[in-house]
Amino acid sequence: MIDAPTLFVVLVVTNLVLAASLWIGTGRTRRDGIRPWIAGLVLQAGSFAVFALRGDTPSAFNVVVANALLASAVACAAWALSSFRHMAIPPAAPLAYIGLMVVVTAGTVDTPTARMFFGSLVLACGMGGVAALAMKPLADVTGSTRGLLIGSYLVGALALLARAAGALADPQATAAHASIFLTMPLLAGYATVLGASVAFLLMQTERADFTAKLLASTDPLTGAYNRRTFLELMEKELSRARRFDTPLSLVMLDLDHFKRVNDTHGHLVGDRVLQRFADLVRAELRKEDVLFRYGGEEFCVLVPDVAGPGAVTLADRIRTSVERQPLLIDGREIPVTTSAGVAARIEEGPEDVDRLVNRADEALYIAKRRGRNRVASVALGTRVA
Ligand code: GH3
Ligand code: MG
Ligand code: MG
Repeated sequence: MIDAPTLFVVLVVTNLVLAASLWIGTGRTRRDGIRPWIAGLVLQAGSFAVFALRGDTPSAFNVVVANALLASAVACAAWALSSFRHMAIPPAAPLAYIGLMVVVTAGTVDTPTARMFFGSLVLACGMGGVAALAMKPLADVTGSTRGLLIGSYLVGALALLARAAGALADPQATAAHASIFLTMPLLAGYATVLGASVAFLLMQTERADFTAKLLASTDPLTGAYNRRTFLELMEKELSRARRFDTPLSLVMLDLDHFKRVNDTHGHLVGDRVLQRFADLVRAELRKEDVLFRYGGEEFCVLVPDVAGPGAVTLADRIRTSVERQPLLIDGREIPVTTSAGVAARIEEGPEDVDRLVNRADEALYIAKRRGRNRVASVALGTRVA
């Protein structure tokens, strides 16, 4: 069996190496909780160093300090995860947690069994709490990475619960530090430190990847997808619609007399109008519909699984909503209207992205020519919505 002092030393070294690697590896972008995570690793290394120095007869100082450091490390992990989630935890909570550990261990210095029972319980609850902080799904982190973090903390928490149960079941063995009661939670702690730190680093890189992809595919002003993504997605959706023989529609929107808005209120207000317009359109869409900024004040909505007449209804809903809500910007009411052109995939014969876009453009042109603030459509196909 592995002896406890060796494990203590291994844990000190592992925590310090992980802390140093994270510090160096995240050089320029130490954010989203990386700092508290590193602080937690250093505190944990400190805790195991104090444990290692205690020898066979731990002093009250050893016991209280080492456990308080361990509780601080758990609090740091909770802090790191909540800042990753951009969620604030009241500072009193981690302080109260560390305080509880100090009271519990100081109050049981002379009763090792009680100390082992209550100390393990407090630590297990803290680790369970950290795992709980990672439970809620995040858009930019995969479930498996969150699972690795949650699993790592649960391994630690379960080992500590087993240790607490062991203290109750066989006080002599735990008091004498029988190897199983000491090495088992230490081994589990080793797995927790490694697994959770790798998971936390993966969470950081997954977030960075997600953000980079989002920046490359969206328009920063309105948050709508950009033209490049539009063409990519259109190809994909059109080929899917062809393969499964499902409808697909395209709504092209263009703000009416937008030049006047810029001329009257300035370009910056014009920008805000575009943002508000995109929000209004999004409010009318289903989850499957995708909004793109096609050009300056021209937007496109890709409407999968909806045939032409349904898309005309959607376009008219958008038009009415924009007409009814004069945009309020800096206390000024700016009336805006939009024209829309609708085209749909035609079931008969081949269809490509260019032809579909051209037909929607043609329809938009007709709507403009007929006086604006209206919806027009061309060749909606034979399928009825
Ligand atoms: P129509 O009803 O025929 O569409 O008239 P319009 O004035 O909207 O059409 P036109 O295409 O002539 O003008 C579009 C204007 O949109 C011109 C341009 O300055 C403005 N625009 C394009 N992109 C932006 C942008 O990002 N911000 C702002 N503020 N204005 C933009
Ligand atoms: Mg326009
Ligand atoms: Mg235009």
